[in-house]
Amino acid sequence: MVKEKKAAKYVYSFGGGKADGNESMKNLLGGKGANLAEMAGHPSLRLPVPPGFTLTTEVCTYYYAHKKTYPKVLKIQMEKALVKMEKLTGKKFGDKQNPLLVSIRSGARRSMPGMMETVLNVGLNETTIKGIIQQSGDARFAYDAYRRLIMMYADVVLEKAEGIEPKGGKGIRKLLDEKLENIKHKQGYAHDTDITADELKVLVNEYKKTIKKVLGVDFPDDPMQQLWGAVGAVFSSWNGKRANEYRRIEKIPHEWGTAVNVQAMVFGNMGDDSCTGVAFTRNPGNGQNKFYGEYLVNAQGEDVVAGIRTPAPVNEYSMNEQSKQFTSLEKLMPSLYKELFSYQRRLEKHYKDMQDIEFTIEKGTLYMLQCRVGKRNGIAAVRMATEMYKEKLIDMKTALMRVGPNQLVELLLPMIDPKAELIQPVIARGLPAGPGGAKGRVVFTSEDAVEWASKGEKVILVREETSPEDVDGMHKAEAILTTKGGMTSHAALVARGWGKCCIVGCADIEIRSEGKLFEAKNGVIIKEGDCITLNGTKGLVFEGSMPLVDIDIEKNKSYKDLMKLVDKVKQIGVRANAETPADAITAMKFGAEGIGLFRTEHMFYGEGSEDPLLQLRKMIVSKTEKERINALNDLFRYVKKDVKATLDVMKGFPVTIRLLDPPLHEFVPHDKEKLQQLGKELGISMSVLRRRVLALHENNPMLGHRGVRLGVSYPEITEMQVRAIFEATSELIKQGKKILPEIMVPVTCTVNELVHQRKIVDRVYKEVCEKMHMKKIPYLYGTMIEIPRAALKAAQMAESADFFSFGTNDLTQMSFGFSRDDIGGFLPKYLDEKILTDDPFQTIDQEGIGELIKFGTERGRKTKPNLKVGICGEHGGDPESVKFCHRIGMNYVSCSAFRVPIARLAAAQAAIESPRRK
Ligand code: ADP
Ligand code: MG
Ligand code: MG
Repeated sequence: MVKEKKAAKYVYSFGGGKADGNESMKNLLGGKGANLAEMAGHPSLRLPVPPGFTLTTEVCTYYYAHKKTYPKVLKIQMEKALVKMEKLTGKKFGDKQNPLLVSIRSGARRSMPGMMETVLNVGLNETTIKGIIQQSGDARFAYDAYRRLIMMYADVVLEKAEGIEPKGGKGIRKLLDEKLENIKHKQGYAHDTDITADELKVLVNEYKKTIKKVLGVDFPDDPMQQLWGAVGAVFSSWNGKRANEYRRIEKIPHEWGTAVNVQAMVFGNMGDDSCTGVAFTRNPGNGQNKFYGEYLVNAQGEDVVAGIRTPAPVNEYSMNEQSKQFTSLEKLMPSLYKELFSYQRRLEKHYKDMQDIEFTIEKGTLYMLQCRVGKRNGIAAVRMATEMYKEKLIDMKTALMRVGPNQLVELLLPMIDPKAELIQPVIARGLPAGPGGAKGRVVFTSEDAVEWASKGEKVILVREETSPEDVDGMHKAEAILTTKGGMTSHAALVARGWGKCCIVGCADIEIRSEGKLFEAKNGVIIKEGDCITLNGTKGLVFEGSMPLVDIDIEKNKSYKDLMKLVDKVKQIGVRANAETPADAITAMKFGAEGIGLFRTEHMFYGEGSEDPLLQLRKMIVSKTEKERINALNDLFRYVKKDVKATLDVMKGFPVTIRLLDPPLHEFVPHDKEKLQQLGKELGISMSVLRRRVLALHENNPMLGHRGVRLGVSYPEITEMQVRAIFEATSELIKQGKKILPEIMVPVTCTVNELVHQRKIVDRVYKEVCEKMHMKKIPYLYGTMIEIPRAALKAAQMAESADFFSFGTNDLTQMSFGFSRDDIGGFLPKYLDEKILTDDPFQTIDQEGIGELIKFGTERGRKTKPNLKVGICGEHGGDPESVKFCHRIGMNYVSCSAFRVPIARLAAAQAAIESPRRK
């Protein structure tokens, strides 16, 4: 709990070229408040920001800790700040001649776009409206502002903040909205702006009556009461359903709280010399260094983001299919555009990052309403980081920290197979808001998206526009398609943040039949559940399910530039898990410096596995050594061929080959035909075969007869594999190639196992050297550390190992006692109840499993200072886990080929965050 201090400062003013706060105070002032202060007060900016003040996040903390009340001094501090605003604007809050109107805006430390509430036009009532009419000379405008205030206030303060669940699901905002639509319908108006002042006046009264009837309270006429009501409601909205949902997805702590900004209103809806807009200092869709934005003439606040009207482009560059019919701001108001352009340049230079800005022009005067670091997709992030580095706006380290490792996934995202795209007709075009290709079945509501996705369906969420209520469904969908809204609409913004395929403003389609189907302009009808495919890079919609293919990353220059920087900085190696030459080639292309896990059993799965599998089966059900050796001899050539092909591709990079790991019964056939064939090959009867198969059954195979245990029971299995590795290596070396195999023994728990197996390796090594006429064959001998005891006995294990590779999947499994395949039953609850913060199979449990790894590494290196240490398993591609491995001094991480770039970037970031001494 925050204790109330006498002198605590809860209110920070900004405006008139001055500010109490600045950009570094985000924790206290929230992002919006801190940036408003910076824009208004920093000597190198001093932009025209409407004056106002920020109530700190500490007020929010206090509010929740004290039954929704405020610190005592708040009232006085706020009144003083209000007086400052009045002086700067020359208006007075609640005055009947020249009233000051204010907006009440939320603002958390990290932006949560649209998740919390804003109330505009606070201070309007039956008295002040007269002043506004006189000041503006526009009764229509004044009543429009008034009815907007009443609607927002009823929705935000009187309903949502009070926790009222609307009857029949129809909230007060909807009820009031219907009244507006009724008038439009009755009078045959096409636009809100057609409604006359007198009609609005009547509407205002109707609004008030409806509120009283439905919610049982009066809309407050006292401006001060409105102000406090709105402030309280914004603080309450921190705990609203959708804000909570968003924080869960984005991992924003609930304790942070929000700040509240009170700011003088400016009006973009005062006629055709007024407008409001959203813009970015660079294109957030592709990263190009071009001013990009949209605006609406004669509109207020949320109209652009809400995507209700199609916005116009700020300049030629921002024009698209939908907006090319409109005049750009640059053409319409050239000198104001110039002013805006120069501000956005200054902002980017000042913040040294792409800025997302909100501006409003009121009767020919430009105001800056917000700036923040703009969200961007992965492709744009990489381009901006590398280009800003080249422009010398940022240094190399900053450039590397600018791209989230997981954002690189988007650069590798599949796209629609170009061949298929050539022949398939486009059914609709929209704006490309999120790149990549995606396919799935159409759903029309966020709830359906969540429900269908939970059943394993891949869905595409199709909406007219999205609102913050839709985030959960948007998150679950493969892609999002909206019929309205521009590149700065809610859907585009959110998709960009997540790197999701998204098309917005697709006016070529119309959602009909109460949201059960959509019809494209060309007449194609797509019903709920039908498949469509999207090209988010170009904004194209296709009927049906089309093949997706992988992208050629080598063609992305910015990516290559970034990776060059990565290699200059990173200190830990990155290898890939691969067992075929094709995978190995992919891995090399992504920059892998070796293979950290080659699973020998791979050859027994999938394509081409028929014959090796049969030989393996023969070996498995063999009873005598002779039978087994016969089968092993047949198997030998497969293993050798397989190992050789991959070693060859890896061009001297180390390849860690794991000896046979799974319990044998996994490979035993179950269908009769296969069993009969096996019996025939072995020359034994079905009943004998059945008995042998039955004998292999284990109650707990995960902890059963597998890994090194097989090698101890049947030394000839180890022998065969090791011989294959040495012979393959020798043959390649004779061809003049550099080859480095690493033999890895799995599932060990004591050094005695390693000693036992090493004898076999040593013997076979000598034999192969002789046979192949080799003086020596390069190789390393080591073990996987995946049983807790092995980590605890690392000092001894290292006596007989040149390297350790932590098999963190099994290590996690065996240390937690969680079966990875069965955690679905309880893990969600564990995460919900915060018993665990993360799924330990996704990211290394640093405080538990991490301790074991650290301990094992240290002990091992005490015995053998140059012991090579790495990890293999899923964690090797998780950025946080990679950083952990860097910090504890591992030599390398190994992950699946497609995650190699991600691991490399994470490794570089780890080296920047906690550099190792060289
Ligand atoms: P969000 O964080 O959801 O974007 P904002 O606080 O930015 O919410 O407010 C929502 C909308 O209201 C924005 O479009 C903003 O431009 C507009 N707005 C907020 N304050 C003012 C103001 N003082 N004058 C004019 N428009 C405002
Ligand atoms: Mg905003
Ligand atoms: Mg294992």
